[in-house]
Amino acid sequence: MKRLLQGYARFRANVFPRWQHHFHLLADRQAPETLFITCADSRVVPNLIFQTEPGDLFLCRNAGNVVPPHGEMAGGVSATIEYAVEVLRVRHVVVCGHSDCGAVKATLPPDGAPLGERRDLSHLPLTAKWLGFIEPAWRNLEQGTRTDDPRALHTALIHANVVTQIENLKTHPEVSRGLSEQTLHVHGWYYDILTGAIESWDEHVRRFVPLEEVSAAKSPTLGF
Ligand SMILES: [Zn+2]
Repeated sequence: MKRLLQGYARFRANVFPRWQHHFHLLADRQAPETLFITCADSRVVPNLIFQTEPGDLFLCRNAGNVVPPHGEMAGGVSATIEYAVEVLRVRHVVVCGHSDCGAVKATLPPDGAPLGERRDLSHLPLTAKWLGFIEPAWRNLEQGTRTDDPRALHTALIHANVVTQIENLKTHPEVSRGLSEQTLHVHGWYYDILTGAIESWDEHVRRFVPLEEVSAAKSPTLGF
């Protein structure tokens, strides 16, 4: 907590004065272009990764960058999506997973256990329920995933989870309407904490490719 308070003191004294004009413009309105749904993990720092400024990203964060399917839960994620699309009129929704995701790891078998086995999460009933939204990712595993290599399997499941949550995202009526009217674009990304690199899900070839390739090759259709 000491670190937070020291940072706040520096912000008030040195940082806020430089941004005062910017915040003045944002004080009673916002018009972010992107709803960015990502994990709560402390190592994923969107404003640093994308060099964005206050007002740029509408953020929604939770363990495992989960998007419950429409109708299953009138929770914070669904309400945030509805507000971002219907009221803020964001043009992009990004679902971004990341390497070494603990939420996804919790749906893997315990070390050395057979594939179908799950960790005992009976002491974390709410977490267990939430992770149930990640479980369907198993059916989206990339072909040829090495299930005998725990690290490779973990990474493949994180990728598959991004694909799964995008599928769920599209069940939300405002999202599917935006997609069919081409006022909204949906992106599935994977951020590597070790290298800082991002991969993007390419629905046509059904695999993740470097974000640089997607933005260079297909900018008009993807709306970049
Ligand atoms: Zn995570």
